[in-house]
Amino acid sequence: MLKGKTALVTGSTSGIGLGIAKALAAQGANVMLNGFGDAEGPKAEVAAAGAPKVGYHGADMSKPAEIAALVQACEAEFGAVDILVNNAGIQHVANVEDFPAERWDAIIAINLSSAFHTMHHALPGMKQRGWGRVLNIASAHGLVASAGKSAYVAAKHGIVGLTKAAALETATTGVTVNAICPGWVLTPLVQKQVDARAEKDGISNDEAKVRLLADKQPSLQFVTPDQLGGLAVFLCSPAADQVRGVAWNMDGGWVAQ
Ligand code: NAD
Repeated sequence: MLKGKTALVTGSTSGIGLGIAKALAAQGANVMLNGFGDAEGPKAEVAAAGAPKVGYHGADMSKPAEIAALVQACEAEFGAVDILVNNAGIQHVANVEDFPAERWDAIIAINLSSAFHTMHHALPGMKQRGWGRVLNIASAHGLVASAGKSAYVAAKHGIVGLTKAAALETATTGVTVNAICPGWVLTPLVQKQVDARAEKDGISNDEAKVRLLADKQPSLQFVTPDQLGGLAVFLCSPAADQVRGVAWNMDGGWVAQ
């Protein structure tokens, strides 16, 4: 379905970004990966999933000049950014009065402003070609809050707002802009919170997972990167041509409560 298209997925060396990259690859898209850590393993996984061509660019998504270079590199190497998945993200948990200002700035930069910068550079080409998909990976925390996550909640509510504004600006074009709002997904980002819960409550890792889920996610099961990949593929399909500006939760019932 996505043969001849190129997907740029930020923060795709791990977790949800890698899962979405593989799902798009399985539909025949070329993929430009981004993120920290080992790139060779993820590149091999995405190629094995079916991507005709796979690239990697190590731009730091907190740095606007590097983000511009990432979009330019994708356009130079593949000829276009047809699908843009703004996924890179970090977390820090502390109450407002204890929250380090430097962590606040980093979370706003990586989880929110980076999506503005990628869209700023990629939307003109999408509009010119008359087709494009922007998928902003928000969170259940783009729709509701939790204590201790002020920067993350602010950034994720912000990216839902950015999604709606950009969707209106592109409403008469072949470019759609939508947000995906996952609940708990067991990735390295969440494993850190599992570890913290296990230590705080003096319990095992498995019990900490059960308690985290029980706090928020009525299904008591983690969402998986593969399931989120399936939603991303749907949003890139012709059936989703008129899905515009939504914040689509896949969260085991989290925000239904
Ligand atoms: P993860 O830690 O597994 O992956 C994060 C990715 O972002 C990695 O590839 C990492 O290298 C990259 N990254 C981090 N900082 C970066 C930077 N400055 N520049 C470039 N890349 C950077 O986390 P994940 O759980 O897969 O999270 C992916 C996205 O999904 C994030 O936006 C997160 O907020 C969101 N999300 C996660 C969950 C969850 O439960 N895991 C739930 C809702 C939303």
